[in-house]
Amino acid sequence: MLLPDYHIHTARCGHAKGAMWEYVEKALALRLPEIGFADHIPMYWLNDQDRDPGIAMSFEGLAEYVAEVEKLRVVYPSIPIRLGIEADYMPDFEMELKKVLDQYSFDYVLGSVHYIDGWGFDNPAYLEKYKHINIDELYYQYFSLVQQAARSGLFHVLSHPDLIKKFGYRPKADLQEAYDKTARAFAEAGVGMEINTAGLRVPAKEIYPALGLLQACKNYAVPVTTGSDAHEPGQVGFAFDSVRCLLEEVGYTEVLYFNNLVSKGC
Ligand SMILES: [Zn+2]
Ligand SMILES: [Zn+2]
Repeated sequence: MLLPDYHIHTARCGHAKGAMWEYVEKALALRLPEIGFADHIPMYWLNDQDRDPGIAMSFEGLAEYVAEVEKLRVVYPSIPIRLGIEADYMPDFEMELKKVLDQYSFDYVLGSVHYIDGWGFDNPAYLEKYKHINIDELYYQYFSLVQQAARSGLFHVLSHPDLIKKFGYRPKADLQEAYDKTARAFAEAGVGMEINTAGLRVPAKEIYPALGLLQACKNYAVPVTTGSDAHEPGQVGFAFDSVRCLLEEVGYTEVLYFNNLVSKGC
C-alpha cells in the first residue's frame, strides 16, 4: 500500500533543513508514488515588520518556492511533485489569504490552525500559557476554529486536525462529541482531513488525528490525505507504516491524490 507524502516543508520557512532536491531524493529512495511540498505561507495577517522569518516564508521566498517546485518537476519526471502550501487559518483575514492563494496555481491548500486568539499554541517558545488556562476550554476553542476553517472554503484539506494535543496537555472531558462535530463539518464543507505523522515526534506521541477523530471521519466518508510534515529530508515518509495500520484499522481503503483531486485505492 503506497502512500503519497503531501506535507513537506523547505528551508525557506526558516525552521526546516536541507535542499528541496534532497527531499525529492528521499521520496524516490522510499519509492513514494507522489509527493507535494506544502511550506508555511507568509504571515499574511501581519505587517511586514512583524513577520517572523523563523516561522514562515517571506513573500519573495514564496515566489522562489513556486519557481523551484516547477524546476524540480522537470528534473525529476519519474515522480509527480505537487505544488501545495500550508496556510494558517486566521479568522477575520480570509480575504487577505484568498488574495495570496489566488496569485499561484497551487495543486492544493492545507489549512492549519496554529493560533488561538493570537497565541501560537504549537510554538515551544510559548508553552508557559498552558499552565494558566483551562485545557478543556482550549480544546473546545481549537476544534471550533478547525470547523470554521473547514467551512471557510479556502482549503482542500485540514492538516494535523488535532494539533492542540502536541505538547501532551490532555482534556478531562471526553472528546468524541467534538470529533463527531468536526468530522461532520469536514463532510458538509467537502474538505479532506490529513493524517500527519509529526505527532509521533512530539510529546503527544500519537499521529494526528486521534483514532476517535479518524473513525468519525470514516463514518462521514471524509477523504484523507497523508503527510509527514517533514522539516528535514530524512523525515519524508516518516512512520507511514503506522499510517497504513491505522487506515486498515479504521477501514479506509483509499486515500486522496491531488492529481485533479481523485481518490486512489491504497
Ligand atoms: Zn513548520
Ligand atoms: Zn502545521
